[in-house]
Amino acid sequence: MEIVQGVLAMSEAPRAKRYIGIDLGTTFSAMAYVDPHGTPVTIPNAEGSLTTPSVVYFEQTGQVIVGADARAAAVEHPELVVECVKREMGERFYSRPIQGRKLPPPAISALILKKLKQDAEAKLGPIDGAVITVPAYFDEGRRQATQAAGEIAGLEVLDVLNEPTAASLGFAYRDIKRKSDGQDDVLRLADETSKAKVAVVYDLGGGTFDVTVLRIEGNNLTVLATDGDVQLGGKDWDMKLLNAAAVAFKAKHGADPRTDEHVFQQMLVAAEDCKRALSARDKARMGITFAGKPVNIDVTRQQFEDLTADLLYRTESRIVRVMEAAGMSWDQIDEVLTVGGSTRMPQVIKLLERVTGKKPNTSLSPDEVVAHGAAIHAAITQLKRYQEKAVEAKAAKPKPAVATQAEMRIAEEEGSALPMMQEPVDANAETVADGIAPHPSGASTTTTAAIAADGSTVAEAIIESNPSEQYDSNDATDVLRAIQTHNVNAHGLGVVMTNEDKTKVNSIIVPANTLLPTSVTRRYGTVVSNQTSVSVIIVEGEAQDPSQCIPIGKCTIEKLPWGLRKGSTIYVTFSYDNSGRLDVKAMEATSGATASTAIDRTNAMNQVEISEAKQVVEKMVVSGKRD
Ligand code: AMP
Repeated sequence: MEIVQGVLAMSEAPRAKRYIGIDLGTTFSAMAYVDPHGTPVTIPNAEGSLTTPSVVYFEQTGQVIVGADARAAAVEHPELVVECVKREMGERFYSRPIQGRKLPPPAISALILKKLKQDAEAKLGPIDGAVITVPAYFDEGRRQATQAAGEIAGLEVLDVLNEPTAASLGFAYRDIKRKSDGQDDVLRLADETSKAKVAVVYDLGGGTFDVTVLRIEGNNLTVLATDGDVQLGGKDWDMKLLNAAAVAFKAKHGADPRTDEHVFQQMLVAAEDCKRALSARDKARMGITFAGKPVNIDVTRQQFEDLTADLLYRTESRIVRVMEAAGMSWDQIDEVLTVGGSTRMPQVIKLLERVTGKKPNTSLSPDEVVAHGAAIHAAITQLKRYQEKAVEAKAAKPKPAVATQAEMRIAEEEGSALPMMQEPVDANAETVADGIAPHPSGASTTTTAAIAADGSTVAEAIIESNPSEQYDSNDATDVLRAIQTHNVNAHGLGVVMTNEDKTKVNSIIVPANTLLPTSVTRRYGTVVSNQTSVSVIIVEGEAQDPSQCIPIGKCTIEKLPWGLRKGSTIYVTFSYDNSGRLDVKAMEATSGATASTAIDRTNAMNQVEISEAKQVVEKMVVSGKRD
């Protein structure tokens, strides 16, 4: 008996799992947790900074440095340093080999996440998982890559959350919380009478841009429309300065300093410093030394603004587009919120004032608010999930050990109809003989949209105790539990359809900015008589021409019954959940033959690759300081 007790004492006591929020930025990352009073707090890194440069330095010794020291090392060893890996998420490999190895971007991002996890654990104890944010405009592949990065870093990814949703959660929660703490403010917890507000979130970070319109009503946050550009951010402003300085240098000395990789890295740092200085002053200086020739270039804020006007205009055109998509005019907008370090540039504030006619709300730290929102979302998700599991456990009936005949039949049918698409999908690969055509009797669409409970699975590595124990008052858990967020999809999703004249078009099934979750069924027809199989090629994008869209998967119904007439009915159902996961089912109407697919992407890492990368990353020593 005593021995048994001893063993029990050594095993891990039940504890609430701890999840943090991570803003995995292109240039900087930040992390936060919700403290016992229910307040989001930024977790500083081991070096004491609230943000960590998203830069990875692969030292010759095998050690990996992440953060400010890695950034500094880029000047000496540019070939061993990876910056802006977020811009390459969704690609198979990082654009250049590192130490002769081709690395998948999620594995590199995982090293940044590992450093953040380590630093958070030093402050808070074991971290089980995280909510990681992504630009709303990230497509399916980039989201999957982000999820994979979290898993490789040993984090349970509770959710991949849109940055603007996180930012608005950060803003709205502050108000909700203040009210519940007895301070006066705009929003009230579960108060039906509080006025709905519509906000525009303008998020310009280091590498990506997002603009989102959302409604905050009581404790409900609903995204109405979102737009953006994953290749636009502060880095592009730096490059404009760098290029202008290089041209000035060349005009004077006849040589281009960008040809030297080390000088180029120095110029990048100088350009960013100059840009930041121009946010505070009217004039700044950029120094370059190349081939023994030092040159100082003076830049005024006006010159900088003229130089970068086209970049700013790209954000303006997206603002106009997102307002059209949301069906809103500026007089219906209550608040303009700024997020992302680049919104510190005066040109951004001037633009927003001009376009919106309002003074932007810059009251929360643009570098931290996304991580705060992610932490709040993690806390909400954890509490809700625990509650749901408790309800499920109560209602659960013991499952029969032997499957019923009907269950076996369904399993067999599903199993045989689940083609694993390992080969790359080509949007134009469908042949006429196995394609789908418009249904002869025209379009028929069924849409169901419901706010479903989040059904993702949670690893049960530890016995979880009630997460509300983490908070010191019921008020904090009540506030968190009451909040609901509803999202839209950023990109249209459709199938490749062959018309009568054999041209192929993208037949959009779920248009961009549809409230999630959603399930849409559309009717199509077979292209030719006696068609024996149907290939449903799934594409992401708005363009009519499928070759202008991103192919994201395929499912095939094999062995159609013999003798089907041309135009026989094929139903295609797209089900898209709240976290942006898509399921596709296709069914031939007379035989009931089905095919289904969860999206399988060409560039995505598969589960085996993720597990292998996880083992490698686990063994790697990651730190913020060079020895
Ligand atoms: P984030 O990804 O949101 O951390 O934003 C990082 C970007 O913000 C980088 O491109 C920084 O150069 C930029 N940034 C940070 N502070 C300033 C500033 N004071 N003026 C201009 N840009 C800034």
